[in-house]
Amino acid sequence: MTRGIYMDWNATAPLRPTALAAMSAALHEAGNPSSVHAHGRRARAWIDQAREEVAALVGGRSALVIFTSGGTEANNLALNSRGARPLIISAIEHESVLKPARLAGAQVARVGRAGEIDVAHLSYLIDKAAETTGKPAFISVMLANNETGVMQPVAEIARIARSKGALVHCDATQAAGRVAVDINELGVDYLTLSAHKLGGPQGAGALILGGDLPVESLVIGGGQERNRRGGTENVAAIAGFGAAAKEAASLGDSQRIATLRNALEDKLAQFGLPLTIFGRGAQRLPNTSCFASGTKTAETLVMALDLAGIAISAGSACSSGKVRPSHVISAMGFDAATAGSAIRVSLGWQNDADDIDTFIAAWGRVQRAGLAQSGAADARISAA
Ligand code: PMP
Repeated sequence: MTRGIYMDWNATAPLRPTALAAMSAALHEAGNPSSVHAHGRRARAWIDQAREEVAALVGGRSALVIFTSGGTEANNLALNSRGARPLIISAIEHESVLKPARLAGAQVARVGRAGEIDVAHLSYLIDKAAETTGKPAFISVMLANNETGVMQPVAEIARIARSKGALVHCDATQAAGRVAVDINELGVDYLTLSAHKLGGPQGAGALILGGDLPVESLVIGGGQERNRRGGTENVAAIAGFGAAAKEAASLGDSQRIATLRNALEDKLAQFGLPLTIFGRGAQRLPNTSCFASGTKTAETLVMALDLAGIAISAGSACSSGKVRPSHVISAMGFDAATAGSAIRVSLGWQNDADDIDTFIAAWGRVQRAGLAQSGAADARISAA
């Protein structure tokens, strides 16, 4: 990736050199993994290896890994596999859960001011759904929010849900490779991963099953992925995913990255400007900071910082390009102006202390221009 300062790792992480090497090697093989000859078997070996590596990242079983075209497809596949169960999600899910859930008439659990799912409300919705439909529910909740980084009480939710006969899907796209993720400790039935958030290529992901569970295919064709996802596999992307998963499993850099993120937030606070750091009171991913100062729109900030050579994001990158306040910040109970000025800085292994200082200097310049225009004077810091 060309430099400038890249602080948008939750949108996508740069490809790890090991992933690139695996992809390059796999691309040099001519073989369809379904072919029985030696070429086919070599292509199959890449996939088998990646299946082991991806399963190991989350303590899953390789036979229960279904490779997909990314996190979006894995989320869609999970929801599609719910059968007749009523669907319950949270208000802060990614669009790839939110949109199909809306179409399915899902019930939506609230989140609190700190960005954590309201477990009592979710539990109430499970009971209500069982009462009205006579069927146990299918729950879809994320492990870490892509905008705020707030970690969700998924193990607790799964315990409650399972005691009521519900199945649980967890979108762990942002968590894997940043914090330890174990499908058994979480106690979930389906788990989504996306390669490009952990240093693998874009366009690869997986749905991992916690056991012998129903899967209702979305892509129907050949018998690939044990008849659960048809189509010749993207061998190179899967090989890159596996290599990235293997490396990400060590979580080698997370303490250093947390220190950088905390330094960033301390320095932001020292400006004495109005400042809201979303989810600061909750457990968060080590690399993510989402904050607003209310003086400029997120869009303006993203553009001004881009001109200064710094890449950050306004709310969810997946919906960037559209000027609308973040549904996540809104669901946390903040007004539209605050939600519309929230920006997200997300860090990774390439960032260092100089990047933080450069960001702070550039952000300060933009904010001072904002203050001069708005006349805002009060210094107020709130940690939401
Ligand atoms: N879930 C979450 C929480 C995400 O952040 C993203 C990517 N922004 C996705 C799902 C979708 O993953 P992909 O880009 O691989 O489709």
